[in-house]
Amino acid sequence: MTACGVCGTVVEERPATWSLQVSERGQVWLCDTCTRENLRSIEGRLDEAWW
Ligand SMILES: [Zn+2]
Repeated sequence: MTACGVCGTVVEERPATWSLQVSERGQVWLCDTCTRENLRSIEGRLDEAWW
């Protein structure tokens, strides 16, 4: 079972579209939706206030 570190979505088997994000808090999985949102925010700004 894997849970998205941002929206909390839980899946039994993690799809290949999920991405592993490494932060100061450790490794966090992001669902496909949050991965897209994350990429957008990385392109826009580098602060991590959204965490
Ligand atoms: Zn998510």
